[in-house]
Amino acid sequence: MALTAMQIYKSLPRTNCKDCGLPTCMAFAMQVAAKRKALAECPHISAEAQTDLSEASAPPMKLITIGAGDKTFEFGQETVMFRHEEKFMRPCGIAVKIPASANDDEANAKVGQINNSVFTRVGEKLKVSLCAVCLDGVSNPAARAALIAGKSNVPLILMSESPGTMKTALDAVKQVKPLIYKANSTTVEDFAALAAGAGVPLAISGSSVEELAELTVKAKNKGAANLVLAFDTDKPGETIRSLTIARRAAIKKNFRALGYPTVVEMKGETPESETVIGAMFAAKYAGILMIDYCEPWELLPVMTTIQDIFTDPQVPNTVEAKLYEIGSPGDSSPVMFTTNFSLTYFSVAGEVERSRIPAYISVVDTEGLGVLNAYAGDKISVEKVVKTIASQKIAEKVKHRKLIIPGLLPIFRAEIEDTSEWKEVIIGPETAREIPAFLAKVWK
Ligand code: SF4
Repeated sequence: MALTAMQIYKSLPRTNCKDCGLPTCMAFAMQVAAKRKALAECPHISAEAQTDLSEASAPPMKLITIGAGDKTFEFGQETVMFRHEEKFMRPCGIAVKIPASANDDEANAKVGQINNSVFTRVGEKLKVSLCAVCLDGVSNPAARAALIAGKSNVPLILMSESPGTMKTALDAVKQVKPLIYKANSTTVEDFAALAAGAGVPLAISGSSVEELAELTVKAKNKGAANLVLAFDTDKPGETIRSLTIARRAAIKKNFRALGYPTVVEMKGETPESETVIGAMFAAKYAGILMIDYCEPWELLPVMTTIQDIFTDPQVPNTVEAKLYEIGSPGDSSPVMFTTNFSLTYFSVAGEVERSRIPAYISVVDTEGLGVLNAYAGDKISVEKVVKTIASQKIAEKVKHRKLIIPGLLPIFRAEIEDTSEWKEVIIGPETAREIPAFLAKVWK
C-alpha cells in the first residue's frame, strides 16, 4: 500500500536542512508520497528507515542516468499516462546511430554532425541527446568506442548483442558510463554481470512484455539495478501496445519488474518514415528514440513533436512582456506589438529577423495567450496596448508615430489613433510568415 506523506515524514531526520533541494522535510515527504522524489534523495535518512520505507516509497518508474560529468542524459521517473493528468517529466531523447559499416573517418564525421545538431525553437535549445555506437561487425570495438567517446559532446550507447564484444568496448570507455544495449533471454546474465561490474545502465529486450518482466528480475538479481526496457519497430503497432502495457503496469499497478524507462530502436525505416514513426513513439512512450539519420529536416519534425508534448501544460508558455529590439533598430525603424505567448512572439521575431529590417517589438502581457484567444478572453484591449507601449517608452526611441498592429486585431486601429500619440496605425498581416513581404512593401 502506498505510504502517506505523514508516514514518510515520521522517518525523516526532520531538520529542514534543505540538502534535498526542498525547503522542509514535510515538502520532501509530500514529493516522495506523490512518487516524484526518491527517498534516497535525502542524504541524511538512516539506513534503517531507508530499508523500511524504500520499497514502498520508490517512484513507480526508476530514474536512469546515462553518462558522466557534464555529458549526461536522464530519463524515467514518469508518473502519469497522459500529459493532461499533470505533465511528462523528462523529454524523450534522440540517439543517432553510428553504423558499424562506417570507417573511422565516416564515424568521426557523423559524430561531428551529431555535435552540431543543435537548433533553437521557441527560445529553447533542441539537440541530439546521445550517440549510439554499433559495434557488431566493427574490427576493433574498443578502438571504435574510444574514438566516439573522445569526440562526442553527448553520452554514449554501446550497441552489441554479444557479451564478449560489449566487454571489450566497455572496458575501453567505462569511465563515461554508457548505456549498454542490449541483453536478451540468452545473454541477460552475462550482460547484467557486465553492467553491475562497470556500474552502467543496461537495456534488455524480450519477445513479449511478460518475458521482459522476467528478464529484468533476473538482471536485478545479478546486481544490475539500472535497467532500460528495449523495444524495436519491426511491428510498430505491437510495439506501441507493449510500451503502453509496460507504462500502465508500472504507473497504475506499481509493478516493479516493468518500472523502468524505455528505448525504442527504429529499424529499416526510410528517412521520411523514420520522422513520422519516430514522432509517434516519442508520444507513446519512448524514453529514448534510436534513429539512423541526422539531417536537420529529419530531426526537426521529431524534435518539434517532443518539445510540444513535453511542455508543462500547467505553465503558460510565455516570454517576458517588454520591448524587444530585433537587429539594431534606429529612430526610423518599424514598431509593432504582439502577445507574450512564446510561440506567437518567437514566430513574429523570427520573421522580422528574416525580413532583415530591424524593428521594435512591444510584447503585451496576455497571460500566455495568442492574439485571438487573448482578444476572446479579454486579455488584450486597446487600453492595455496603449499603456504597455507608453510604459516601454517606445516614443522616445523613434521619431515617427506609426504603429503596426496584428492583422487579427483590425478593430483596434481607430481607437489607438484616437486615444494615443500613435496617429498612424497600420494593420499588419494575419500570419507571421507574411511579415517579411509586408515590411518590404510598407516600410520603405
Ligand atoms: S535533506 Fe532530508 S533532512 Fe534535509 S530537508 Fe530534505 S528531507 Fe529533511
